Amino acid sequence: MRAITTAPGSADSARLDELPEPADEPGSLLVEAIGIGVCGTDAEILSGAYGKAPPGRDRLIIGHENLGRVRAAPEGSSFHPGDLVVGVVRRPDPVPCASCAAGEWDMCKNGLYTERGISGRDGYAAERYHLEPAFAVAVPAALGDLGVLVEPTTIVAKAWEQIERIGARAFWKPIRVLITGAGPIGLLAALLGRQRGLEVHVLDRVTDGPKPALVAAIGATYHSGPVRDLPPPDVVLECTGVGELVFDVMEIAAPDGIVCLTGVSSGAREIPINMTALNKQLVLENNVVFGAVNANLRHYRAAVEALAQAQRPWLEGIVSRRVPLADWRQALIRKPDDVKPVIVFG
Ligand SMILES: [Zn+2]
Repeated sequence: MRAITTAPGSADSARLDELPEPADEPGSLLVEAIGIGVCGTDAEILSGAYGKAPPGRDRLIIGHENLGRVRAAPEGSSFHPGDLVVGVVRRPDPVPCASCAAGEWDMCKNGLYTERGISGRDGYAAERYHLEPAFAVAVPAALGDLGVLVEPTTIVAKAWEQIERIGARAFWKPIRVLITGAGPIGLLAALLGRQRGLEVHVLDRVTDGPKPALVAAIGATYHSGPVRDLPPPDVVLECTGVGELVFDVMEIAAPDGIVCLTGVSSGAREIPINMTALNKQLVLENNVVFGAVNANLRHYRAAVEALAQAQRPWLEGIVSRRVPLADWRQALIRKPDDVKPVIVFG
């Protein structure tokens, strides 16, 4: 079977490999790949900057934004041949820490977790793979190959859940949300904000391409000017990881406002911060700033639910390109109108 592999740590080592069929794994589902979404993490892994091969190997099968079709299911599992399925990315650490033991591997405390297609465990960019039923999430047939958006949606499903849990610390009735970055994560964060009936503003640098229309189509407002010109948001989902922007959104958050950081910063550029002024604002305005990464099972289920409620043409606009497996490298080349390229198997 074909699979996309790379040697983590070594740039441009990725290739389409011919590998043996997956070895028997009793108790697991045998899954046939349908599609793999490509994101910034994949680009980092392929550049050699990130990622880890499974123990005793020097190559890793990539792919974490996954969708497949069950080909064989063990007796007694809730899955059947033909079902659409998404595999969870992270596996709990073997110790396990208290969070992993409680099924909240997204909150792992010791960092010894593994991640399929990223760190220490083969990913889903193979024509066939095994998946443990406990880490498999059913996708409604009506979603079809748009189920490939489940994994990126889990990130914002978790972010929204955590925002609401923090909001429950006091009386809280948020009205206005600011999303920074109109990439796939920002757009999906905006979708979930609109599904909550909130007034959603999305800020990005670009003024053309598909992003402004995708934002408008869900009844949100698109902005490309300075953050400081925007009205104070009760909730911010920062999806860029750009240092200056992170600081700016903390400053404009409304009293009792909650700022969720989801973007991983890159680069080493330093920006001066007046920590005394920021401290004063956070204290006097009861602001909360927190980070959120990864997702556990309940976030996968919430993501499936959110996508099932969304308008299909809008989701089609997020999947900007479908690239056949044979041309997989094309999916990694950024195109000006790209939102989410997907590599299509089969
Ligand atoms: Zn853990």
